[in-house]
Formats: sequence, C-alpha cells, structure tokens
Amino acid sequence: MDTLGTAMRRHTGVIAGIQWTTVLFYLVLLVLPFFWLPAFGDAHVHDKMDWWVRFVFWGLWWPLVMISMMLMGRVWCGVFCPEGTLTEAVSHYGLGLGIPPWMKWRGWPFVLFAATAVYGELIGVHMHAETTALLLGGSTVLAVWVGFLYGRGKRVWCRYLCPVNGVFTVLARLSPLYFHVDEEAWVNAPRGIRSSRRTPVNCAPLIDIRRMTGASQCHVCGRCSGQRNAVRLAARSPNREVLSLGVAEISRWDGVMLVYGLLGLSVGVFQWSVSPWLVDMKGRMAGWLTMHGWFLLFKTMPSWLLMRYPPVIGGVTWFDGLSIVLYIGGTALVLGSWVTLWLWIAEKSLERPGEMWRLAYSLVPLAGIGIVLGSGSLTLTLLGGQAADGLPWISWVRGGLLAVGVSWSIWLAARMIVAEEQVARWRKILAVCAVVAGSSAAVFSWILMFYLW
Ligand code: SF4
Repeated sequence: MDTLGTAMRRHTGVIAGIQWTTVLFYLVLLVLPFFWLPAFGDAHVHDKMDWWVRFVFWGLWWPLVMISMMLMGRVWCGVFCPEGTLTEAVSHYGLGLGIPPWMKWRGWPFVLFAATAVYGELIGVHMHAETTALLLGGSTVLAVWVGFLYGRGKRVWCRYLCPVNGVFTVLARLSPLYFHVDEEAWVNAPRGIRSSRRTPVNCAPLIDIRRMTGASQCHVCGRCSGQRNAVRLAARSPNREVLSLGVAEISRWDGVMLVYGLLGLSVGVFQWSVSPWLVDMKGRMAGWLTMHGWFLLFKTMPSWLLMRYPPVIGGVTWFDGLSIVLYIGGTALVLGSWVTLWLWIAEKSLERPGEMWRLAYSLVPLAGIGIVLGSGSLTLTLLGGQAADGLPWISWVRGGLLAVGVSWSIWLAARMIVAEEQVARWRKILAVCAVVAGSSAAVFSWILMFYLW
C-alpha cells in the first residue's frame, strides 16, 4: 500500500493531469445547459442531452463519490474534485488574505449542507440540467472566489465552507485506506532525513500532518507520503477510527451532522416527493390558510427559487415551497431529535457525561448506507419511473444493505459500550437497547419509502 502512496508523491504530474481533466469534463457538463442546449431546435435531442447531464451528475457521479468516501477515504477531494483543484490553483495568484475567524465556525458544514440540500430540492436540482448547473456552478464560483481571497496555495473553501465537507468528514471515518502518521518517528526523524525532505509539504486542506490521527480531514493527495519516514499510506479495519476516537477528536458538530443531517434531513430530501404524508399535510394547510386569509402564499414563486417539480398546473406557489421546506425540516427535526433522545438515554445509563456524542459515531455505517440507498433510488428515478420494476431483486438488495447498516452500527455501539470500565452490566445492556431504539427510526423511515408507500 505504501508503494502507492510513494507513487502519488512522486508522480504529481499524473495527479495534476487527472485533476485538470476532471475540471474540463465538469465545466463542459456545466456549460452545456446554458450554451449548447438552446442551440438544439430539436426538442428530442435537447431532452436527451438534458437527461445525460443530470444522469452523469446525480445518477452516477454523486452516488459513486459517496461510496468512495467509505471505501477509499477522501481520494475524491484530493485527486479528482474540480472545485478543490480550481480553488487551490486560484489561491496561488489571489490576494492571500488571512482566514477570517467567522469562517472557522465549526457549525458551517452542517448549516451549509442543510441550506444547499433544501435549496437544491426547491429548484428541482435533479430534474433540470439548468438547475444542476445553477447549484453546482454557483458553488464553484464561490469556491474560486474564496480561493482568490484567502490562503496561498491552500484549499480554504474545502476546509471550511464546502457544503459537503461535513458529510465527507464523517463518512471517511470508515475508510479502510488512510495516511498513517507515526508522530514519534516524525519528531525523532534523524537530521539527514529531515534535511533531505526539508521542502515543506503543501497540505492544501491545512492539516497539522504530524498530529493527524485519522481519515476524516485528509484529502489523500499523497503529497506528504514518506515525509520524515513517518507518513505512509496504510490499510486498517473500517471500524478502527470510530472505536479508537480520543476525547479531543469527538466533535458535537459531527454528531449533529450525523443525527440531524444524514439520518434526518437527508431522509426528508429523498422522501418528500413520494410521501403521501406531504400530500395530506398540504391539504390540511391549504384549508387552514384559505380560512385565515393567507392568500399571498398562493402567488407564484420565482423560478430561481422553486422550479416545476413535480409539474403543477398553473405554476408553483410560495405555499408549495413552504410545504417542501416544512416537510424536510420537520423530518430532520423529528428523526434527529428521536435519535438524539436515545443517545442521551444511553449516556445517562452509562453515567458518562458527553458519551452520547462519542456513541453518535457508531451510526456512521447506518447513515452512510442510507445515503447510498437514497442516491441509488435517485439513479433509478433518472433511469425512468419503471426502472425498479425491471429489477425484481432490488428490494432484496435494499433490505440487505439496510440490515448491514443497522447491524454494523449497533455492533459498533455495543463494542464502545462494552469497553466502558466500571459500569454495571445492566447499565451497558440498557445503553445498547437505547442505541437500538434510536436507530429504529432511521430504519423505519427507509422501510416506509421503499416498501410501504
Ligand atoms: S495530510 Fe495533507 S498532504 Fe498529506 S495526504 Fe492528507 S491532504 Fe495530502
């Protein structure tokens, strides 16, 4: 494995080639809807190209990136991501300003992920090539702008403001591939080795390499491989990072991202368009609003805020937008609070203050597999409403993956709980039961979507 790490450090030109090829491919796909699509008078060709752009981005690219996070860590960020490549390249020639303190707020990954996911649903990001370009292109422009303002050859955008950074941070903790740092070897490296490798490594995502203990922040770019004979690409058990988390590595914001973001908000995002509960809620809300004279909410919404999805006769209104936001927000709040409550009960059972946030990491497999299932259903939607009918085994695959996700999470939680010292056995059993109860809501929400609705 180390040979691959060494090759990555040696052949930076190859990595740069991959990065700029991806940038080119990405930009062509982004530009297509605005400049090329209108040029086709033939509606059939136009629709075909529109579909291709959406399928490549949301049916292939996005699910594969998610899967890669759990299998290979953040290789996507370090070797392929076009936004990362652009923001870093621009920052070499930008103003090089210092990073403002507000940008370092640890809540940004969750807030930006939630805002982008909800806005994406409002504009029907998967349903129109133009809205795909609007959302991704807007994010790319901001990445370039941040690169121009801050850092010198660094990826300030990726570290602090990328809307999916928080998702990648938690999913990469399961990666069996990572850059291992031997801090003792780093500190005690003989003078000869230090001077031969004196050129400082440009770690673009601003990581303190010497103290790096896991895969969550590392972009696996390979630039530090072999540094001071202390850094090497290595394989490990996918459970290792979660089971060995030190107190300093536990972040409440990671917990919020897992519980309210991946187990809550994501479910709402994938679910709202097929939910009979939303239809019921809209019926009740419409009656109440009409009775109380809230007619302004039935005015048409600007298309850059809400697109026609699903198609609605007479345009889409502020009421439609509000319903989607309430449904997704409500799902995040209810599911997230349910899981949080049971994690808190587990913490109380163990009598270990702060334990709930450590236990939250045990839910990474369930959250990650949930995201893969949701993205997979999007792929099938893009292939056509009946695509799943031609795959009778898909229900079994979904059920199997869900079972793997929840069993893996409960097993991780049980390992963490059993390792607690000086805790009565009955308390440990109670804590495991609490995690099972917490996970059940996430499982039930996927069962609703795939089997009951
Ligand atoms: S620690 Fe930094 S330089 Fe080293 S592989 Fe990770 S991202 Fe690259």
